[in-house]
Amino acid sequence: MSLQYLSTRGQAPVLDFEGVLLAGLAQDGGLYLPQSLPSFSASELRAMRGMSYTELATTVIAPFVEGSIDRDTLSGLVEASYRDFRHQAVAPVLQLDHDQWLLELFHGPTLAFKDFALQLLGRLLDHVLTRRGERVVIMGATSGDTGSAAIEGCRHCEHVDIFILYPDGRVSDVQRRQMTTVPGDNVHNLAIRGNFDDCQALVKASFVADAFLPDGRSLVAVNSINWARIMAQIVYYFYAAFALGGPDRPVNFSVPTGNFGDIYAGYLAHRMGLPVNNLVIATNRNDVLHRMLTTGTYARQPIEASLSPSMDISISSNFERLLFDLYDGDAAQIAQLMADFSEGEISLTDSALARAQKLFTSAKVSDEETCEEIRLAWEKTGQLLDPHTAIGTRAARLCARDGEGPMVTLSTAHPAKFPAAVARAKTGQTPALPDHLADLFDREERFDTLDNDIAAVHAFMAAQCRS
Ligand SMILES: *Cc1c(COP(=O)(O)O)cnc(C)c1O
Repeated sequence: MSLQYLSTRGQAPVLDFEGVLLAGLAQDGGLYLPQSLPSFSASELRAMRGMSYTELATTVIAPFVEGSIDRDTLSGLVEASYRDFRHQAVAPVLQLDHDQWLLELFHGPTLAFKDFALQLLGRLLDHVLTRRGERVVIMGATSGDTGSAAIEGCRHCEHVDIFILYPDGRVSDVQRRQMTTVPGDNVHNLAIRGNFDDCQALVKASFVADAFLPDGRSLVAVNSINWARIMAQIVYYFYAAFALGGPDRPVNFSVPTGNFGDIYAGYLAHRMGLPVNNLVIATNRNDVLHRMLTTGTYARQPIEASLSPSMDISISSNFERLLFDLYDGDAAQIAQLMADFSEGEISLTDSALARAQKLFTSAKVSDEETCEEIRLAWEKTGQLLDPHTAIGTRAARLCARDGEGPMVTLSTAHPAKFPAAVARAKTGQTPALPDHLADLFDREERFDTLDNDIAAVHAFMAAQCRS
């Protein structure tokens, strides 16, 4: 019997894995979740301890895709997804201090943790589409890391054309070049004359009306509301815990957080049986989640640019998935809360807040503190941290509680991706791009510049889709 997925708002059709893979957002505006979460007993977890990253990934993911993808196929897709990571362990754990550790998630092709999900997502999509004899179009807006990771994940997909919109002149040189230098006649970079919000508005409007696509093709979302992305990220929480004595010793994680996708995967690992005491929500000045956890009020504020741009958000979409559990899966209540939230702010009930505070803690880290943390880490450990990771290690120390065991900070990006922030930290170091990207600034760029005009964007996309 295959696992079914339902919407947090309860008014969309129940789907199987293949359905949620291709759906993205549910029709009722909610997010898809498994109807019942697979879980592992302590003895099953102990048996998983010696597994390689790819064996573990296959074991953890298999129950989520049952009925859609058989185990051997899954294993092949997983192997292919992580084969090109530049560390043999895929997700190595490194010690920083007595009880402080780093989980390095930046050894994939685009140097950020998003590769873990998007390498697999591209392969899952192509597999399913081949079997169905269908083609789809991926459309996404990016201000940074998602675009390049999605392009790298889908560049070899036979059945996918991918269009990434970014604000012209407003993404960093490294990030733009990681998108625009990827060859492939199914890869399209659209520099939009506008800001990130304009790009996102174009994408949202396109999902509502995708009739402009040729041959009845549909649009697929690759932002972190896609369930398959969350699913792939659950794996490395198990992997890190096993490296540090789990499941017989509880561990803690500090997660540099924006849209709440990554840390939500850690929450799921815990609910699937992994002993975890403390999940630290590490935020920059865009602290909507820190305010929620300390005051119980979830309220949008305007985005402010920071040194950690991948965490610059005004709301965290995936938080709705946690809310669903905090309110005992009461979809009607979630639908009402989200409707209220779209009008202003919402307050959690005392019991929902108390539940959240039992597992989660949080901290907010300023740009100045981020720079100081990069410098301190360099001086004390010889590790050069990227600004997102530095927010994580800072929050890890602020939120660590005595006797809780090892604290693992997720290192979400390679420092060479954010050279300006690292320079501001005055370590005297300039992080070099890894070998496979060393000639990034010599490669030819390919992109098209378009007005912030939906008709122009649609005409361009319709003309460029492969037949
Ligand atoms: C995307 C990203 C984050 C935030 O992850 P969420 O899943 O959105 O919370 C943090 N750090 C880096 C480097 C990222 O690219």
